[in-house]
Amino acid sequence: MNILVINCGSSSLKFQVINSETEEVKASGLCERIGMDESRLVYQPAGCEKEKITVDMPTHKEAIKQVIDALTNEKNGVLKSLSEIDAVGHRLVHGGEKFNKSVVITEEVIKTVEECNDLAPLHNPANIIGVRATQELMPNVPMVGVFDTAFHQTMPPKAYLYGTPYEYYEKHGVRRYGFHGTSHAFVSARAAELAGKDYKDCKTIVCHLGNGSSISAVLNGESVDTSMGLTPLEGLLMGTRSGDIDPGALEYIMKKENLSYAEMMTILNKKSGFLGISGVSSDCRDVDNAAAEGNERAKHAMDVFHYRVAKTVGGYVAAMNGVDVIAFTAGIGENSVSTRAEICKYFGYLGIKIDEEKNNTRGEEILISTPDSKVKVFIIPTNEELKIARETAALV
Ligand code: AMP
Repeated sequence: MNILVINCGSSSLKFQVINSETEEVKASGLCERIGMDESRLVYQPAGCEKEKITVDMPTHKEAIKQVIDALTNEKNGVLKSLSEIDAVGHRLVHGGEKFNKSVVITEEVIKTVEECNDLAPLHNPANIIGVRATQELMPNVPMVGVFDTAFHQTMPPKAYLYGTPYEYYEKHGVRRYGFHGTSHAFVSARAAELAGKDYKDCKTIVCHLGNGSSISAVLNGESVDTSMGLTPLEGLLMGTRSGDIDPGALEYIMKKENLSYAEMMTILNKKSGFLGISGVSSDCRDVDNAAAEGNERAKHAMDVFHYRVAKTVGGYVAAMNGVDVIAFTAGIGENSVSTRAEICKYFGYLGIKIDEEKNNTRGEEILISTPDSKVKVFIIPTNEELKIARETAALV
């Protein structure tokens, strides 16, 4: 089966065509600046040069039309016609408590996803626009929605409840949901497999460290805790997001700096994290380089990041009463040798030993702990698109 995987944002759309039997990626690409001037399509058929086409894409429907044209064009298309797409898998961000697994998209599903819009006002409406536009162009092709939040729906109340009045949970769904679920599910399953353990009998901690970062505790195949909350702002220090902060600090900063609530939220989401502490960049590479050159603030940013990851992992060891496998994934987790080394320095108490040579690896699946390490530590490149394609194929 050929699965078209779509990840639709408010002005961008990423796509891949994956053969679900061979799991081969036939083509991938990205539409940028949808609805703006100078919108463009980046298209890459497998094994060929990337093609960048500047083309008008006033709406997502136009963008998907361009994707279909690229996929089926005579020159470097990978499909003979649209009819070769057997199903579409959509990344959907927030399913609230309504979805604990992937679903075939129906009118009723769309309505229910829209009921969760308040929980992800930037993402869910954009996801649905992508679904509608695809449906219009491929009315007879089955579509599946794969939620970022679904994998974490197994968290128990003690992990997901905030210490706010219970009625806010009952009336408005105020609780921790967690994100990156597709990645945590993919990587935790692979980690157990690589460790030679039964997924249903394995304590795994997945450190998804990228521009957005979250950690999950996966006990016997189920997420029992994760570091992001009602929104992706909670938890670790991120590229531009603050992660955890005393809510009391917000009022204090707003008064001192004469900020509106909206301005404060923009600062916490866009001007904090690596960028906020270092003043250098939101990109871990830049901050790490600046720290190595002696920039004190950059060093603080890296230290805070490593420390919070280590504390969260420690918390999850307590939550699961142990850990068998730890996996690093996403941009930083897969590529930053120094970050992994610094984080793992905190894990001596767990009997974890890292092989420095093996840790000197980027973007490859590898065991980086020594044979006598009490816990196996892996780098496992995440693949959310493949997970979406697998779920889609399984459901249709
Ligand atoms: P992601 O959001 O998963 O795409 O990850 C983006 C983050 O990965 C950025 O902060 C990058 O700086 C970081 N990253 C990518 N490659 C490297 C690398 N070789 N060393 C350190 N960080 C990296």
